[in-house]
Amino acid sequence: MQDYIGAAEKNGITLYGEGKCQFCGANTTRGVHECVEIFSLGFELIDYSKPENHLYRFLSVDAHTLQHPEIHGRWNNHFHLSRQHLIFEYKIHWQYDLSSKLSEYLNKYKVDKQDEFLQPPKILERGQITTTDIRSNSKTSAECQEMIQKWGMEVYISWKAHHELIDKIAQGFINKNVNIKYKRNQTWP
Ligand SMILES: [Zn+2]
Repeated sequence: MQDYIGAAEKNGITLYGEGKCQFCGANTTRGVHECVEIFSLGFELIDYSKPENHLYRFLSVDAHTLQHPEIHGRWNNHFHLSRQHLIFEYKIHWQYDLSSKLSEYLNKYKVDKQDEFLQPPKILERGQITTTDIRSNSKTSAECQEMIQKWGMEVYISWKAHHELIDKIAQGFINKNVNIKYKRNQTWP
């Protein structure tokens, strides 16, 4: 995340250091910088040393990145939306080693897809929940987990224009990694 200022510059985006976060609308006083700080602290109510809590780290990183694509490289959208899709739609029990496998898969995928760009939803229309909501509105670890889950889902839904394309990536990834256990969510629209 330290590199977000450089990434914004590369994307030709001016960052504002006052008021609400210009990308997600979080109720900050130092703009996106504060939003990134809150996110980087990782919502301290959750004990990430417990393996069962790793999921909330993955969900937070995906949600924040996809809410702030202007401060990341363009291929990050593919990675984080694919991971959300694999977690939400295919119910994959995500673990760290799967993230490296997904990166590997996407590195090969993008070689002949240099023109493929996932146009993000409009600024401030990438889910209502923001970093400051999670910090202010959760008092227990369980509440925080629930909010992160909702946050992830809202952001995921806001990117629905790309779900079809991402599903092809998800299927390709699953076919390449035959040992992954998954259960397709059949009720999802
Ligand atoms: Zn923000």
